[in-house]
Amino acid sequence: MLKGKTALITGSTSGIGLGIARAMAGQGCRIMLNGLGDPERIKVLRSEIESEYGTETRFHGADMTCPDQIAALVESAAAAFGSVDILVNCAGVQHTAPVEKFPPERWAAIIAINLSSSFYTIHHAIPYMQRNGWGRIINIASVHGLVASANKAAYVSAKHGLVGLTKVVALETAGSGITSNAICPGWTRTELIEPQIIARAETLGVDIEAGGRDLLAEKQPSRQFVSIEQLGQLALFLCSPAADQITGAAMPIDGGWTAQ
Ligand code: NAD
Repeated sequence: MLKGKTALITGSTSGIGLGIARAMAGQGCRIMLNGLGDPERIKVLRSEIESEYGTETRFHGADMTCPDQIAALVESAAAAFGSVDILVNCAGVQHTAPVEKFPPERWAAIIAINLSSSFYTIHHAIPYMQRNGWGRIINIASVHGLVASANKAAYVSAKHGLVGLTKVVALETAGSGITSNAICPGWTRTELIEPQIIARAETLGVDIEAGGRDLLAEKQPSRQFVSIEQLGQLALFLCSPAADQITGAAMPIDGGWTAQ
């Protein structure tokens, strides 16, 4: 489905971003990976994707707190593959604390990585999409782009901002062949939420699995984690012709979390 297309996926060295990279590679898309991590491990990831799906990958280690590095990331994808057709903004971090104790430097980092980086990638990638009259912008927001939870001031603010950015870009690109949408996952078992599962298990004096079940019981009516594969398939659907008229949407995939 995506043969000949190019996808740049920020935060794709683990978790949801890596899952979306695999889903898109599986459809023949060439992939620009980005994120933090051990260079040797990233080399292995690239060769796994290339041999499993027979497609090309590149890696750029741009730090999502640095606008100059983000510009270089987009230019490097365009130079390697000729364009940027699909942009998935997935890089993200978390920190939990009550607002009066929230460290200002964590606030600044979360706003930079979870929100501002998407402005910069979109800003630099859109001209390539406009040139081809086709593009897909997929912002990995969160249920926290739609509703709040205590102790997540920066994360909730950034994700609400990302949903707003998604809508503005949708209006500015409407009818041009470019769509802009946000995916809003509920709890998905990745490194990002592991500290919250561990903290819950410690508070309750239970094992990690029981800690995870307790987190789910509090917010996610299905009491099941969203899977990385399900998120990959939703991203693929947004790239399909069936989704040509879906733009400006913030799509929950959350086991009923935001229905409450
Ligand atoms: P993860 O920790 O596995 O992935 C985060 C990715 O962002 C990694 O590749 C990491 O290297 C990258 N990253 C972090 N800081 C960076 C920086 N400064 N520069 C470049 N890359 C950086 O966690 P995940 O759960 O896969 O998170 C991916 C996205 O999904 C995040 O935006 C997160 O907010 C969102 N999300 C996650 C969940 C969940 O339950 N896991 C739910 C809703 C939304």
